[in-house]
Amino acid sequence: MIKIAWHPIYAHPLPEGHRFPMLKYELIPEQLMHEGTIEQNNLFYPEPASEEIILLTHKKAYWEQLRDLTLSAKEQRRIGFPLSAQLVERELRITQGTIDGAKFAIENGIAFNVAGGTHHAGSNWGEGFCLLNDQAITANYILNRKIAHRILIIDLDVHQGNGTAEIFQNEPRVFTFSMHGDKNFPFRKEVSDLDVPLDDNLEDEAYLNLLEVNLKKAFESVKPDFVFYLSGVDVLSTDKLGKLSLSKIACKERDRMVLQACKHKNLPLQISMGGGYSADIKDIVDAHCNTYRLAFDLFT
Ligand SMILES: [Zn+2]
Repeated sequence: MIKIAWHPIYAHPLPEGHRFPMLKYELIPEQLMHEGTIEQNNLFYPEPASEEIILLTHKKAYWEQLRDLTLSAKEQRRIGFPLSAQLVERELRITQGTIDGAKFAIENGIAFNVAGGTHHAGSNWGEGFCLLNDQAITANYILNRKIAHRILIIDLDVHQGNGTAEIFQNEPRVFTFSMHGDKNFPFRKEVSDLDVPLDDNLEDEAYLNLLEVNLKKAFESVKPDFVFYLSGVDVLSTDKLGKLSLSKIACKERDRMVLQACKHKNLPLQISMGGGYSADIKDIVDAHCNTYRLAFDLFT
């Protein structure tokens, strides 16, 4: 059984009149249900994560300012959303969705979060629509609980996983691998264990060749017993922020390489969605749905 974290607040964190472009969080499960890839019982509603768990990863002062909605105007601008209690609740539910997903993945091989992949959030900052770093928090949680001992985080969103890199810069049990646009946001990058900066307009074949080589390198470097995958679809040529030239077929091929590697090695895998900013919402939803379609093909 493949479990997928989802909650209505993913799509509607703020009252009417303050809607953000969060439509994909409603459309992804709707499309998957409509086409018969998933059923209602694949979805679960996560509770908000506890403060104790957040503090395994984020600094107390930052978390308290987030919780109490007292971040400075400058810090809020860095996040890109006006702060609200609903937005914080959304982030806490997403985080718990990733934690629960990791536990399901250990039992069943693979689990998803319809949101998450909030990789720009560092230990003491929020940035680029990311308040709390769901996969980093979960990595620390499963290490702390001794559920996993060596973790690989594969971040193929087009933007560097700078928050994740910073959080684990002195943690040898977590190997961070990020393949991202060299000249894209964030403009001041952190140092991951394996960074693969990409040129603008990179095309399918060159991208997939680079991924094949570096994926192998990452697995060999860490020999993980748990894998996180951040499957952002802002690598598409249609993406407004991505700057790469990948087709939807190559994006699915990218997912296949990650999923097959984990299946082949019998490694539990948790997947969070990350970014996607194509002009046509159908391209975003279809590319994200491809990751689920592949998983249901390979793992069920
Ligand atoms: Zn991104």
